[in-house]
Amino acid sequence: MSETEITAAAQADSDSAEPVSAEFESIEPLPIVTYPDSFLRTKTKPVGAIDDDVHEMVERMIATMVGANGIGLAATQVGWDARVCIVSDNGQPEDCIVLINPEVEDVWGSEAMEEGCLSFPGIQAVITRAQGVRLKFTGLDGERYTLEDDDLLGRCCLHEIDHLNGVTFLSKMTPADKLANRSKLKRLEERARAETA
Ligand SMILES: [Zn+2]
Repeated sequence: MSETEITAAAQADSDSAEPVSAEFESIEPLPIVTYPDSFLRTKTKPVGAIDDDVHEMVERMIATMVGANGIGLAATQVGWDARVCIVSDNGQPEDCIVLINPEVEDVWGSEAMEEGCLSFPGIQAVITRAQGVRLKFTGLDGERYTLEDDDLLGRCCLHEIDHLNGVTFLSKMTPADKLANRSKLKRLEERARAETA
């Protein structure tokens, strides 16, 4: 059973009258930081004032996630040192939830499920995580909210909050999945070396 307690005001389109998908098509996406970039290990800093710069970065993060067909994106993945991530259980911009300074209050259960990550293109792995999560976060409107979910959205929150702590799903892969993905990981490492050479 899935339970999501969140009000519409916390969602990305709360103060937008026009259709969100059309609005986001005109926003320039951000380059995605990929493995093995060390920025992915950044433990991000809490956000203070939710000013215009934060709003602009969040809009660009949503455009980036939607453009890459993702269902979540953390600030570290776009080179931004801030405790901000966006989650969505269907990848639609109008259903994105912006989590600013999220804090996990409780987790329960355990479930193994296949995950991907926009910072690890082409790589999938079965990751065991808590099945349910309750967390508190600040919305773009500055209000504090509670989100509770024991389905895909909750898993997505846990994956993204890991990113904000400098943790990627690579460290949670089983040895078998690490081995199965070894050549793909090596290719990403080689690509990064070629780009910096
Ligand atoms: Zn990820």
